[in-house]
Amino acid sequence: MDSPSVTITARGIERITSGHLWIYRADVAEAAGARPGDVVRVVDRRKRFWGQALYSSKSQIALRLLTRETRPFDRGFLAERIRAAAAFREQVVEDAQAYRLVAAEGDLLPSLIVDRYAQCLVVQTLSQGMEKLKPLVVEILKELFAPLTVIERNDAAVRALEGLPEQVGILDGEDVNEVVVEEGGIKFAYDLRRGQKTGGFLDQRENRAAARRYARGRLLDCFSYSGGFAVSLAAQCESVLGIESSEEALKLARRNQELNNLANIEWLQANCFDFLKSADQEGRRFDTVVLDPPAFARQKSNRESALRGYKELNLRALKILNPGGFLITCSCSFHVSEADLLETIAGAALDAHRTVVVVERRTQSRDHPILLTVPETHYLKCLILRVL
Ligand code: SAH
Repeated sequence: MDSPSVTITARGIERITSGHLWIYRADVAEAAGARPGDVVRVVDRRKRFWGQALYSSKSQIALRLLTRETRPFDRGFLAERIRAAAAFREQVVEDAQAYRLVAAEGDLLPSLIVDRYAQCLVVQTLSQGMEKLKPLVVEILKELFAPLTVIERNDAAVRALEGLPEQVGILDGEDVNEVVVEEGGIKFAYDLRRGQKTGGFLDQRENRAAARRYARGRLLDCFSYSGGFAVSLAAQCESVLGIESSEEALKLARRNQELNNLANIEWLQANCFDFLKSADQEGRRFDTVVLDPPAFARQKSNRESALRGYKELNLRALKILNPGGFLITCSCSFHVSEADLLETIAGAALDAHRTVVVVERRTQSRDHPILLTVPETHYLKCLILRVL
């Protein structure tokens, strides 16, 4: 093999043997022969081979392990991984035309995301190495899925850590303004160029379906975005109120409401913290509340303030729930664990003088696989709780 080598330290070897895919810059001893974004051979000081990885010249994550095997990580190898990812979706995706086809580390393709919205594919290449492989990725996607369009949503902030520009555009096929897809018999419109993430929150799909088992009466959907929960649950509820701070998001929400002919949803552009506080003071009551806020702890250093945020939200939500009511409460902060969230909500329940039962402990949809030895791949927590 003539690919360049990068030498790692004993700590770097420990990262690999612990099953993690990331090796930090501090654990790289020598990388003189590697260019930004190369697929490199990872070796130790005695030249022993440990695997092949994507090399980044900028990021603190200097190496992202692709394989422990020696056979070249070429087009065939890459296609094999993408095919394996797609085959797993065949098994776990039910009744949905939009889902994550390739979930980066969770599919052993670190820093590559491919989301499928019916016949449209949206790609994110979030490291120097994946950026370099992008043309090959697009070729393989075309070959395997014959998509109508392949769009890149490389406007994710993490690209800056790699020294890569933020860019959005068509990599192949037609420009598409809006795609309408079905999820559990409900229609959702996605704006693939401008919507949040790659268009929407596919990771909540199974949680929206799970929430349908319980939602009823008067529903309050906080942090609605394009109405994912509100629209999914409306048919079985008396009335729905969706709260969202972004006007753009509410336009999408109204569009989704209209697509499904739902007359019982109202939207309010407001800050959820303020709304919940005044709803409690005014004595408003609901039978189901959904809390799906953005990540409060993007860094470990924000953990404490994030926990205060979760406590405040859950406290208010529990106060305005009628007895027998359900709270569907989420956190997508990796730095806040499920145990942290449970403890925080237990504190909130005590303060709110509510007795609460845990009905379901859930996570991201299965098309966002959690790699057991890469804790960062488990980020979403969704608890379904019942107030006695
Ligand atoms: N529940 C949605 C996803 C929610 S994402 C779904 O299933 O599709 C979080 C949303 O919260 C974003 O749309 C963001 O605009 C909104 N948001 C962030 N802070 C807010 C606040 N303080 N009040 C209201 N909405 C907020």
